[in-house]
Amino acid sequence: MSKKSFWLEGIPFEAAPSLQRDLKVDVAVVGGGFAGLSTAWYLLRKAPGIKVVVLEAESTGFGASGRNAGFAMTLFGLALAVTVLRFGKQKAREAHEIMSRAVDHVGELVEKHGVECDYEKTGLLTVATSPAYLKRLQGEIRLAEQCGIEGASWIGQDEVRARVDSPTYLGARWEPHSALINPARLVLGLRRLAEGAGAEIYEQTPVLEIDRSRPGAISVLTPGGRVTADRVVMATNAWSSRFAEFSALQFPVYTYIVLTQPLNEKDLAALKWHRREGIEDARCLIHYYRLTPDNRLLMGGSDAFYYMGGGFGTDRNEDVARRLRRDAREIFPALQGVRFTHTWGGPVSVPIDFAPAFGYALGDRRLIYSLGCVGHGVALMSFAGKILSDLALDRKGALSEAFFVNRFVPPTPPDPLRWLVVQAIRGGMHLLDAIDDRQ
Ligand SMILES: Cc1cc2nc3c(=O)[nH]c(=O)nc-3n(C[C@H](O)[C@H](O)[C@H](O)COP(=O)(O)OP(=O)(O)OC[C@H]3O[C@@H](n4cnc5c(N)ncnc54)[C@H](O)[C@@H]3O)c2cc1C
Repeated sequence: MSKKSFWLEGIPFEAAPSLQRDLKVDVAVVGGGFAGLSTAWYLLRKAPGIKVVVLEAESTGFGASGRNAGFAMTLFGLALAVTVLRFGKQKAREAHEIMSRAVDHVGELVEKHGVECDYEKTGLLTVATSPAYLKRLQGEIRLAEQCGIEGASWIGQDEVRARVDSPTYLGARWEPHSALINPARLVLGLRRLAEGAGAEIYEQTPVLEIDRSRPGAISVLTPGGRVTADRVVMATNAWSSRFAEFSALQFPVYTYIVLTQPLNEKDLAALKWHRREGIEDARCLIHYYRLTPDNRLLMGGSDAFYYMGGGFGTDRNEDVARRLRRDAREIFPALQGVRFTHTWGGPVSVPIDFAPAFGYALGDRRLIYSLGCVGHGVALMSFAGKILSDLALDRKGALSEAFFVNRFVPPTPPDPLRWLVVQAIRGGMHLLDAIDDRQ
């Protein structure tokens, strides 16, 4: 496989076979990322002995799961204010509680199930880089309190700069619950759990079509064979827009990352950053950055793209990479001479109301889906198996009845109107950021 990110280099994934015959199974899971692999594992934990296959178009971890920045965060959807506006304060609190469990779940995978993913419980700093952002972040802390969400606090300029020294910081929201991981290792760990429980994995096996035309079993067609199943779980994230059943529910938005060489002792001393916190800024189009386990600076964001027609394969954007390298040196002037070694990107799944959605598609209980992580799916999608397995096994529980399961997702119009709508949203975000950056 061509390596889609720094994380995937050197990870000992064994190639799985591609499907070359027809199969009859209990559950076919489509997509070998966090959501698909955790679903396969939880299905087999809850119903040992059933036949579960994972069908992956490329290789496990090929999607966002093998390419992300590795922040396991409590944030649901785009931002708390957006979630409150869309769903109200009580549901925003419910979402936060589930996200906190999802972050804890990553820790449990490490501690109880032996998943080695360079887990670091570092917490998250959201830094204010202008007075406008300072006001926004303090407002968000107040909003969280009004929702009954605890855990975040404000730290002033001196303290934040004592922790991580950037001349651009005026203060920060501190949230200790978040963690950092190596995403490719988390994929590998989930795959081993799923395979260990009895799941069969097929790679280079793209699902081309979903056939719901017959009563009873549902089937999916791949180039090498048809898989007939009692249930199909579509864990295809941003690629869901390739299927008519899901194309109106979300669209793929691309975010990009740059990475430096390992920082030397002098550079690290200049940055301080002893607690190795994950960091975001408070812009609409955020920068997100962290240290990797081998002390490289990873920085992503600052822009986001929707390409007409979905843009699959648009995994690099040199213009954004250039801007990210410039921004990294502006945030940390001590890194002027540091060399950047990698750049990559990938799609996140974005519904028009910026919130995750799980459920039965088109009211058909044989077809289950998860999508809409909006770039915050490390914790939620590796926890998603708990929810999706309940839906596939027809089990009711607090999670499968959460408000974002079987929720109404406002449809997004098709291209070219979709492209225009997304351009308008992105343009508005850029404008707000330009105003707030200057204040
Ligand atoms: C650059 C980047 C940075 C990010 N940073 C963070 C972060 O720091 N923190 C965070 O919480 N989230 C982050 N995210 C988002 C996070 O990575 C995703 O929410 C999460 O990985 C989604 O997992 P998933 O299993 O749902 O989807 P994916 O990992 O995208 O998996 C979907 C899989 O489906 C497969 N597939 C697609 N179509 C088919 C088909 N027809 N047949 C078979 N298989 C198919 C794909 O090949 C893919 O492997 C980031 C995303 C990107 C792109």
